[in-house]
Amino acid sequence: MDKKKLKDLAGSKRFIEGIYNYCDRWCERCSFTSRCLNFAMAEDEPEHAETRDARNLVFWQKFGETLQVTLELLHEFAEEHGIDLDVIHSEEAAETEKFRDEMARDHGCCRAARAYGEMVNDWFESARGFMGQGEAEPGEGAMEGTADARAREAETALEVIRWYQHQIYVKLMRAVRGSLDDDPENEEGFQKDSDGSAKVALIGIDRSLAAWGGVRRSLPFFEQETVRLLLHLERLRREVEKAFPQARAFIRPGFDRVALQS
Ligand code: SF4
Repeated sequence: MDKKKLKDLAGSKRFIEGIYNYCDRWCERCSFTSRCLNFAMAEDEPEHAETRDARNLVFWQKFGETLQVTLELLHEFAEEHGIDLDVIHSEEAAETEKFRDEMARDHGCCRAARAYGEMVNDWFESARGFMGQGEAEPGEGAMEGTADARAREAETALEVIRWYQHQIYVKLMRAVRGSLDDDPENEEGFQKDSDGSAKVALIGIDRSLAAWGGVRRSLPFFEQETVRLLLHLERLRREVEKAFPQARAFIRPGFDRVALQS
C-alpha cells in the first residue's frame, strides 16, 4: 500500500476512530469490518496469488512495504511535534516497566487467567487422547461430514474457547498495567483505558463460559473437567468485575456506540 493510499484511508470518515483498540481481533467474526481502518489496511491484498505459500510471500512483502510507509509517516509526525526518536528509555524507566510487569503478573486476576490458559491446554490434551486424534484439535475431522448437531455445537464452542484462551490473560495484563497509571482523581470522569481492556477480557470470559456450556452439553464424557473449568472461569469473571467495577460500563467505540460520523 502506498503512502497516499494509507493517508486517504486514515482520513476516511467511514472508519470508527480507535474501534480496533477494544476489540478481540477476531476479524473473521467481526460485524464492523467495513468501519475498521485496521481491517481495511490488512485487506489490501493482491488477488493473483495462487497458492498459500505464494500468498504468504506476497503478504510478508507487503508487510515490509507497510512498515516502510508507517516509518515515513511516523518520522513526519515526530518532526512536526518535535519528538526526538533517538532518545531511548533510561535505565530507571526500564526498571519501572519491569516492576509494573511483575506487579501485573502477580495480580490475582492475571494469575487466575494464566492458570485458565493452562487448564484449557490440559483439557484439550485429555480430549485428544480420549478421541485418539493425535495432533488434531478435539472434534476436528471427527465432525466433518456429519450432520450431528451436537458435533457442530462442540466444534463451534471449541473454536471460541481457543480464540479467547490466552487473550483473556493478555487483556487482563494490559488492564492491570494500565490501572497502575490511572489518575486516582480523574475529576473529568474520563473513561479509563484499563477499564476498556478489562471489558474486552470480560467479553472473552463471557463467551468462553457460554462455549464451555456448549461443550458440556455436546461432549458429556468430560463432565468433571469441563465443570472444573466453568467454575474457575466464573470465579475469574467475578474477580475481574470486583477489580474493575467500571469495566462493564466502558463504552467501546463502534461496538457499544457507533460514532456520529458515517
Ligand atoms: S474491529 Fe473488527 S475488523 Fe477491526 S481489528 Fe477488531 S475484530 Fe478486526
